[in-house]
Amino acid sequence: MIQRMSKKVKIIGVITPGGDAPGMNTAIRAVVRTAIYNNLKIYGIERGWDGLVNNRIVNLELQSVGGIINRGGTVLHTHRCPEFKQKMTRVRAINNLRAYNIEGLVVIGGDGSLRAANELGKESGLPIINIPASIDNDIYGTDYSIGFDTAVNTAVEAIDKIRDTATSHERVFVIEVMGRYNGFIALDVGLTAGAEAILIPEIPFNLDAIGQKLKYGQQRGKSSFIVVVAEGAAKAVDVAAHLKKRTNLDVRVSVLGHMQRGGAPSALSREVACKLGARAVNLLLEGKGGLMVGMLSDKIIETPIDEVSRRKKKIDAATYKLANMLAS
Ligand code: ADP
Repeated sequence: MIQRMSKKVKIIGVITPGGDAPGMNTAIRAVVRTAIYNNLKIYGIERGWDGLVNNRIVNLELQSVGGIINRGGTVLHTHRCPEFKQKMTRVRAINNLRAYNIEGLVVIGGDGSLRAANELGKESGLPIINIPASIDNDIYGTDYSIGFDTAVNTAVEAIDKIRDTATSHERVFVIEVMGRYNGFIALDVGLTAGAEAILIPEIPFNLDAIGQKLKYGQQRGKSSFIVVVAEGAAKAVDVAAHLKKRTNLDVRVSVLGHMQRGGAPSALSREVACKLGARAVNLLLEGKGGLMVGMLSDKIIETPIDEVSRRKKKIDAATYKLANMLAS
């Protein structure tokens, strides 16, 4: 449901209800500063949907977002709120939005946040603009969600270091990266770290064939091997055990974990955050709601939130093929 409001909004809110991602603060800064530049009053809702239900609503000024452009995490904090799936809880949230005269909302988050925002928008009639922010990059309607590029860079930097020790000892390292049910992080990390194999949930893989590839590489004099595993595809320890049994190579495991969520946002994550943050507020000023802003082929675009929820972002099979070919 795309909304068009005739009344001009004067008071808006901004919220980060899901998993944090580097660049969320950059987006909050862009939203706040664009709002104030356009003479809007803006409230920050702290601790996600839970904070909206329990009145953690604070006034934001230009200086409230000073010095955060380069800080990971979210200064608004986040808190999972499973009760938000119940209509009763959302009614309380709507009452609080009305109590503060909030006439438009910017939601910065992943697919869970967006689904929640869709429900809230339909039930309240409030115009809501969503900004995709998730290291997993699994949101339809955008090439990049905020944080993805930073997470990929963090993982690649870690793997470069692991590669040094792998080469010295002529070892195989099986490295598990984040991404929930998707392989977007693993694919980009695998390509750019030169992984000999990439395991992602979207494309079937054969561990025996991967073992053979490693053995063949060893015969040709390769001294290190990196196997990147998406957390949604398999457990690194299981993959390592299988490869060890089949190849007799020295196989080690590294699970990169939550370090991929943190750190200063990369220039690309910041650029996406600045552009999408400003666009989100401008759409509210144009009286629009029910949309997600995104970047497609370097252009800022809007997609109806219903469509975003309904459709699934596809992995790029050509990139997968390319990574395998280059690492042969
Ligand atoms: P992310 O936004 O990173 O995907 P979550 O999946 O945890 O994070 O979603 C953030 C919050 O959104 C949840 O804590 C919950 O409050 C709310 N939420 C998620 N899915 C729904 C849904 N289908 N309906 C209503 N609220 C939801």
